[in-house]
Amino acid sequence: GTSLPRILVLGAGLGGTIAAYEIRDATKGRAEVTVISDSEDYWFVPSNPWVAVRWREPEAIRVPLAPVMAKKGIGFTSVGALRVHPQDQRVDLRDGTSLTYDWLVIATGPELAFDEIPGFGPEGHTVSVCRTDHAAHAADAFDAFCADPKPIVVGAAQGASCFGPAYEFALILDTELRRRKIRDRVPMTFVTSEPYIGHLGLDGVGDTKGLLESEMRERHIKWITNARVTGIEPGMMHVEEVGEDGAVKKAHDLPFGYSMLLPAFRGVKAVHGIEGLTNPRGFILADRHQRNPTFKNIYSLGVCVAIPPIGPTPVPVGVPKTGFMIESMVTAVAHNIASELDGREPDEVPSWNAVCLADFGDGGVAFVAQPQIPPRNVNWSSHGKWVHLAKVGFEKYFLHKVRSGTSEPLYEKLALNVLGISKLKETTKESVR
Ligand code: FAD
Repeated sequence: GTSLPRILVLGAGLGGTIAAYEIRDATKGRAEVTVISDSEDYWFVPSNPWVAVRWREPEAIRVPLAPVMAKKGIGFTSVGALRVHPQDQRVDLRDGTSLTYDWLVIATGPELAFDEIPGFGPEGHTVSVCRTDHAAHAADAFDAFCADPKPIVVGAAQGASCFGPAYEFALILDTELRRRKIRDRVPMTFVTSEPYIGHLGLDGVGDTKGLLESEMRERHIKWITNARVTGIEPGMMHVEEVGEDGAVKKAHDLPFGYSMLLPAFRGVKAVHGIEGLTNPRGFILADRHQRNPTFKNIYSLGVCVAIPPIGPTPVPVGVPKTGFMIESMVTAVAHNIASELDGREPDEVPSWNAVCLADFGDGGVAFVAQPQIPPRNVNWSSHGKWVHLAKVGFEKYFLHKVRSGTSEPLYEKLALNVLGISKLKETTKESVR
């Protein structure tokens, strides 16, 4: 046995995987790093909308993790965590065993709250692109739909925080339906809890309102904002459109032959309801160093982190956590744990910039928001064919990073140099104060 301190990374999605690599490199020889996943494979979630229209095969965005972890000298199990016990510094696994830790990094992503609306989700009457297996099922459903075209409803439910993929999917469907020459037989409606098109949980970025409204107008996609979905039956969605005062302004019954809505997210069961660790939705509480205020040896990153909404809206909407922002959390967590290992206080603060590329197949919209809450220093959005190419570049880069175990954030650096943004808030390092 070894007496090195043990760092556990819980969850091997977009954030957890690269966190394990970065933490490993930042603590080499001084700590043991182990990843607890619930799957043998990593799947590149941002490409799921492409999977759902067969622009990507699921296999192309899969990375088997055990070989890379072994090569990196990182412990790996795919049995999944049952429950975290912060008081005992222990994680119980689903096979009845448990692992103790000196530091725990929680990167468990979202639990998908489909059960909050009757008939919602892949076990109900709508498809999902949140997981790659869902997206593969959505592709089969889409092929069947194309043989018998009907109306489409796409969007994001009340409490959702991930709006980019909703717009992306609506516009991808439009592109694919035109390619299949059946767009004229498919009325499309975008249904969203956002107070206006392009709000994105961020109160808009640059002119996302104008850009996305214009895209949808040009593509004949109607929309309902401030929408609350009350129930979904086979082929029929019930939606309440709410006014500024929160009262129901209009009730809509929307027939559909195919529908995808992003659900609200909440924390996963392994961490839900732990006093001091999680908020009431099960998201992990973290200070500006990504460290839990109560259990100071627990860090968190990615979608599982609690971030308050940007402001009140008639229907609740959350703040998105995008890949770039997650990478800035990863870098901060790796630095801060390495600092603690060396007997210093954590001092890195992630920038939490929102950078997003929404691809429509034949174009797209990109935006950068820094900081998240307006007024901002950087508030930029743009559109064009280049967004599609940039997104393909992001996919290739990220998959290479996960496959090779690289911890160097090269793409980010490139993007940052181009856009003049820094991943870590250099000026807020407490160590220099
Ligand atoms: P995840 O990638 O979801 O990883 C969490 C992992 O933890 C999962 O593998 C899960 O199985 C595992 N886990 C959960 N519970 C347990 C347990 N008990 N034990 C062990 N393991 C567990 N962002 C962008 O920047 N650009 C995009 O284009 C983009 N597109 C998106 C498209 C879609 C459809 C969605 C849903 C999100 C998109 N995002 C995008 C947002 C964000 O980047 C992704 O959601 C990203 O995958 C979040 O990373 P994460 O590590 O926080 O969570």
